[in-house]
Amino acid sequence: MSPLQEEAQTSSGLFSYTYLKHAFSWKQIYHGLLDLVFPPTCLRCGRVDTSWCDACLDELGQLPISQIGGDLDAITGTVGTGWHTDLLQHAVQALKYNNVQLLALPLASRLDHVISQQPWTIDMIIPVPLHSTRLQNRGYNQAKLIAEALSAQTGIPTVDALHRERNTPSQVGLNRNERLANVEGAFVATVPSNTKSALLIDDVRTTGATLVACATALKNAGIPSVYAATITVAEY
Ligand SMILES: [Zn+2]
Repeated sequence: MSPLQEEAQTSSGLFSYTYLKHAFSWKQIYHGLLDLVFPPTCLRCGRVDTSWCDACLDELGQLPISQIGGDLDAITGTVGTGWHTDLLQHAVQALKYNNVQLLALPLASRLDHVISQQPWTIDMIIPVPLHSTRLQNRGYNQAKLIAEALSAQTGIPTVDALHRERNTPSQVGLNRNERLANVEGAFVATVPSNTKSALLIDDVRTTGATLVACATALKNAGIPSVYAATITVAEY
């Protein structure tokens, strides 16, 4: 490298470091000011200063837990902890779209409760994956946050055994057949050998098309029993 090139590289590195440092602090100041002018409000009740207030957190903790089953192809057993309405719907959406990650814990407790009532033996917990593009945009996978919180509560490990190969369009607005076609073959699975059973985790079950596509991939990879649990079940 010539001295000239070296100098160019050093100064460009220096420039980008200085630039990033300033950009970062300006961003923090910007968000700080934004919070002062427009303080965050609870997504459920509108109380000021937090995205999910303690009162709504308590209410969520005391919300009765249902066990909503269902038959889905390729899935040995399915359960949800409540309908996709009211408080539970708010909580699921706040975790999914508004970065209220603390909700993963109370939502996973609901799953822990319903799963302990099932005659299921589970070797591993597998979250339904997001495509890398959507993961990059959102910054986290809400199903994985719930799965990891459930692992912490049950001691059953979470394994990222599924990968979303195709970035499928949103399922919202599609009918059952369209949903099945939309996600068919979208997932590939890599599972440890001799895995006998797995529990799929997602936030919402609507037609179950995504869960069926995931379970099919896991079965093709050699897991005989695949179960599925979701926080909510949306009437369809
Ligand atoms: Zn609230």
